[in-house]
Amino acid sequence: WDTQGSRAPEERIFVSIRLRPLNAKETATNDFSDWEYINNTTILFKNCLGERSTYPNAYTFDRVFGCDCSTKQVYEEAAKEVALSVINGFNASIFAYGQTSSGKTYTMGGITQYSTADIYDYMEKHHKEREFVLKFSAMEIYNESVRDLLSTDSTPLRLLDDPDRGTVVEKLTEETLKDQNHLLELLSVCEAQRQVGETSLNETSSRSHQILRLTVESSARQFLGTGNSSNLSANVNFVDLAGSERASQTSSGGARLKEGCHINRSLLTLGKVIRNLSKGRNGHVPYRDSKLTRILQNSLGGNSRTAIICTLSPAHSHIEQSRNTLLFASCAK
Ligand code: ADP
Ligand code: MG
Repeated sequence: WDTQGSRAPEERIFVSIRLRPLNAKETATNDFSDWEYINNTTILFKNCLGERSTYPNAYTFDRVFGCDCSTKQVYEEAAKEVALSVINGFNASIFAYGQTSSGKTYTMGGITQYSTADIYDYMEKHHKEREFVLKFSAMEIYNESVRDLLSTDSTPLRLLDDPDRGTVVEKLTEETLKDQNHLLELLSVCEAQRQVGETSLNETSSRSHQILRLTVESSARQFLGTGNSSNLSANVNFVDLAGSERASQTSSGGARLKEGCHINRSLLTLGKVIRNLSKGRNGHVPYRDSKLTRILQNSLGGNSRTAIICTLSPAHSHIEQSRNTLLFASCAK
């Protein structure tokens, strides 16, 4: 679909499903797949045990990727257009949503790299007409606390309301990229920072949201220094969400409930915001209810482009979470 802004607001969220293969452990324990890939927009719940399902059996989405699809294919068909709209000045967000171990990080890691390669490719082809500057920043949200993944200082960052730019993450490191290798170096810094947290906070990555942000600024060379501007600036956010099983923990009680509420505020609010946007409602969208949605407010809704890739474990042992994921995906359509 086009990147020029002619899509109706309710059509701006592209929702896809990616089914991963059964892994070695699942195969070894005789787990089996509940799901059948029908075609590139439909997935079927096979209802293997003959139990009566209270859910519809066939689900359709903008795109369904079976377990033999490559990340490249997922990128090309479900994320590329959204990611590259940043070149034309549109903010964009690409999310991976799904339970822990369903393939979010696997999918989002590849998409981030393919997107960057394509953005660099574009810049190289058009550098004679436009001057480009690329910036990168990275953050993690854990327990409604925001941390800079490019800094060893783990002091939580504050969110400020800027009259021009909207919500700004105060003191967030922003690196101007020299080249693609520079980005790869920064990505490994982020990865290391995430793992530091992981040992102290116990499997943080399943409980935290990671936002990698690429900002593309450009101006047409013919106008440089003339005061005439054709400056464009936009960012694309690659969001690896906390495991969606955290969103259902709020149904348990006591300490678990409290922890669940805290961990999930961002995930639950994201669900509400996306449901509102996908219905094209003009009314109140609760961006301000969580850190994640505040940070992404300018890249969700309005004129921005959004893609959500819901990752699914095929295993029967994960059936409840898989159904929850499809429910989320259906609401986002
Ligand atoms: P999550 O981030 O959702 O917790 P990961 O991306 O870490 O899940 O994936 C869990 C494991 O499954 C990893 O070892 C990953 O390499 C593997 N995996 C995930 N998706 C696929 C896929 N589509 N094909 C092959 N292996 C996959
Ligand atoms: Mg992960």
